Amino acid sequence: MAGEQKKNFGRGAHECLMCGRKQGLIRRYHIMFCRQCFREWAPKMGFKKMN
Ligand SMILES: [Zn+2]
Repeated sequence: MAGEQKKNFGRGAHECLMCGRKQGLIRRYHIMFCRQCFREWAPKMGFKKMN
């Protein structure tokens, strides 16, 4: 899978804001986190845990 290069710098990209992953993204309140980052940051940012 080579040959496809995107020259986007995060604009409109569906990536985790923290680590840049594209797996298991969670969109909440204008921010996008992957499940792992959300799990770590949700408590710190005052979000409720969701299962
Ligand atoms: Zn992440």
